[in-house]
Amino acid sequence: MTKQKIEISIVVPIYNEEENVALLHESISNVMEKMNKRYEIIMVDDGSSDTTLTVLKQRQKNDPYLKVIKFRGNFGQSAAMAAGFEAAQGKYVVAMDGDLQNDPEDIPMLLNKLEEGYDVVSGWRKNRKDKLILRKVPSKIANRLICSVTGVELHDTGCSLKAFRREIIKRIRLYGELHRFIPALARLEGAKITEVVVNHHERKYGESKYNITRTFRVIMDLTSLNLFIKYLRNPLRFFGTLALFSLLLAGFTTVWAGVVLAQNNFEPTSINILTTLIFLLMVTMFQFIFIGLLATLIVHTGKKKSFYLIESYQ
Ligand code: UDP
Ligand code: MG
Repeated sequence: MTKQKIEISIVVPIYNEEENVALLHESISNVMEKMNKRYEIIMVDDGSSDTTLTVLKQRQKNDPYLKVIKFRGNFGQSAAMAAGFEAAQGKYVVAMDGDLQNDPEDIPMLLNKLEEGYDVVSGWRKNRKDKLILRKVPSKIANRLICSVTGVELHDTGCSLKAFRREIIKRIRLYGELHRFIPALARLEGAKITEVVVNHHERKYGESKYNITRTFRVIMDLTSLNLFIKYLRNPLRFFGTLALFSLLLAGFTTVWAGVVLAQNNFEPTSINILTTLIFLLMVTMFQFIFIGLLATLIVHTGKKKSFYLIESYQ
């Protein structure tokens, strides 16, 4: 059995979920055992300060398929997911929350969609069990905004229960609150994306780790994502536009200088300031071009740097 290749990796970010982890582990294991495929469960302890890690270590004694990554501190859900994805060996990778709000029973359905040929399958909490004003309404608005900015039409991009083909998820870099935009990032990689309706439960134990300020952070990340989508692949396009703008201004100033010169009987000193301006604009133009070239170089050769620090693998 152990020689067999891992087919499915389940990745769960966990922060202070001591009452949930044992139940969650049990229910994921039950579902996966029924599927009869080689799997691994990767629980990433995002610097919990409660007994989460002790419970996980206890569970590991009876489950060789449970892997635990322990962070040195609380680096956030995106970082925890990124570390899990990095470690995942399966051909298919499933992500879900560690608070029992997502239902492991939905995993086979998501995997079936991947088998059909999709690269990303996103859950849709059609019947979401969260507070209306504080959670569902802001989330609906954020979802609309994300869809219109990223161009990926999903009903519920914020749902954590998602399944991916390994090639796609391994290429995605997560930081800030970017885990919310995985489908958009996946589309940049050319992924075929679909959604399926999934179960959603109320949080029974522990507390939500977020409050309403998250909405602002999500919007800020959305703005940087927008720039990222537009220019990251080709920064020269962005800086090139600025260079062109400088060139146009220089051209306009030259014409202006010509007019002033003609009005002053071609007395060269009459356009001293304008000559300086033209010179400055030309220098600026070349600067933009060189910055664009440098940025292109960095984007294409830059080394991947992780946004978290792992204390141990278990
Ligand atoms: N989480 C995490 N690090 C954090 C915050 C949250 O790993 O800094 C985990 C948390 O334990 C849970 C998942 O991310 O498994 C989603 O968090 P939560 O349920 O609090 O979010 P909500 O469902 O309220 O949006
Ligand atoms: Mg939750």
